[in-house]
Amino acid sequence: MIFTFAHLEKSVEIMSKNIRKQDFLTYFKRFSLMASSETSVTIGVISSFHQDNLSKKFYDEIKSAIVTIVPTIEVIDFVVDDTIEMRAIDEVIDCRDTQKTTEKKTKNEAINGVEIVEGVNSRLVSERYQLDNFIVGPNTQLAHAACDAVARRPGSSYNPLYIYGNVGLGKTHLLQGVANTIRSKQKDLRVVYTTADKFLTDYVSSIKWRSVDKLRERYRQIDVLVLDDVQFLAGKKQTQEELYNIFNILYEAGKQIILSGDRPPRELTELEARLQSRFEWGITVDVSEPDYETRLAIIGEKARAREFLLPQNVAEFIAENVTTNVREIEWILNQIIAEYDLRGTPPTIENVAMRLSKLSIRSLTPSMTTSKSIRSTHCSYEDLIQAVSGHFGIEIRALLSEDRKKENMIPRQVAMYLLKNKLHYTYERIGNIFSGRNHTAVMYSVKKLEEVMKKNQQVVYELNVIRDKLGI
Ligand code: ADP
Ligand code: MG
Repeated sequence: MIFTFAHLEKSVEIMSKNIRKQDFLTYFKRFSLMASSETSVTIGVISSFHQDNLSKKFYDEIKSAIVTIVPTIEVIDFVVDDTIEMRAIDEVIDCRDTQKTTEKKTKNEAINGVEIVEGVNSRLVSERYQLDNFIVGPNTQLAHAACDAVARRPGSSYNPLYIYGNVGLGKTHLLQGVANTIRSKQKDLRVVYTTADKFLTDYVSSIKWRSVDKLRERYRQIDVLVLDDVQFLAGKKQTQEELYNIFNILYEAGKQIILSGDRPPRELTELEARLQSRFEWGITVDVSEPDYETRLAIIGEKARAREFLLPQNVAEFIAENVTTNVREIEWILNQIIAEYDLRGTPPTIENVAMRLSKLSIRSLTPSMTTSKSIRSTHCSYEDLIQAVSGHFGIEIRALLSEDRKKENMIPRQVAMYLLKNKLHYTYERIGNIFSGRNHTAVMYSVKKLEEVMKKNQQVVYELNVIRDKLGI
């Protein structure tokens, strides 16, 4: 195989990952491909300074990247390419751009998901959401059974499986539960979980880069496509069209498709009729509000998962009063645990009643299903880490690492503080997120920040900006 420009691009991508950022940005400016064969490559660079350094300091790393792409390469030369500034864009590799793209990609993979098929990012599926920690009640019996059947034999029982219901009733939990089960039982299957929102973004950027064909080609390789919240495609005609195409490709190939929406397909009036009808081809099942016993069981399960001892009468009190939305049940429970952790307030009916009235629990109206206030209570730790990293402009990896660089200290403390005080994570859990630190180290960092906040208004301000962004 002769070494091509595309091979060089791929190699540079690898180099940008393996070579220290500062070095990479200093020495790797621009590359062109001057000559090549099956065994040799001549790379054009911008100056003799770069030629010198690359061939002396970085030869091994460059070679190892190149050989990863084309194993037959033996010799690599560098020459000064006087025409490099005048070359067409597709003849020059701007290493800086490559570095930025890879960095972004790695970040996204770390936070938003994992790349399962090249170019198709699956959102991270939370381990918390399993089919067997989902409490089944009369309201979800059918949905759970259908999920179970699909997880056992993807592609052959119900296809597509469409689950609908109001917000906070367990759709995402079930969908991710299926994804988790299939991933753990059938490791060879490519399971992609994504939201309609994310699909839309991917599609729009594929139009921008004129790579719609590629997008389709990539989705074609998926074995199980899980698409959450399809109502977000309302009114997005072109994206619907693309989903229709992908749906057909997957369906005809016997691949499993699982969808969720906030109402039954035929009520998604802003969705093209043919897409609505496709969604109904398999089975559609609803999730509705849990009854009292189910609510009580859910509270019990959630408290158990948090290792929190909740008195039975308090659990019953919550089950009686928070009736429409499981997410709110979790939210109350979080509040109770936080109160206990922070102030030692015991969970009694009186205390909880006060909380409930303060929080003025309201029943959800449909118009609120997309409102920020509801979603905000469900800011995940990934969202939080990403926001802190974005706000301070430091890499997620650095934020979570154990390095003791001064510029990373405050951002790290801020992230820990918010996890503790706003998402109510235990010190142990936070420690695990931050490279397995000891919980006392986390506690110390949080305390430290509290001290800083007393003296430094700027930090308080920064914190508020981040909290606003996340709605916490
Ligand atoms: P939806 O996607 O329908 O808006 P989610 O799946 O995000 O709702 O559920 C909200 C929260 O409530 C999640 O944390 C989920 O684990 C929890 N939940 C909902 N229903 C159940 C259930 N039956 N058993 C256990 N947890 C549940
Ligand atoms: Mg959801």
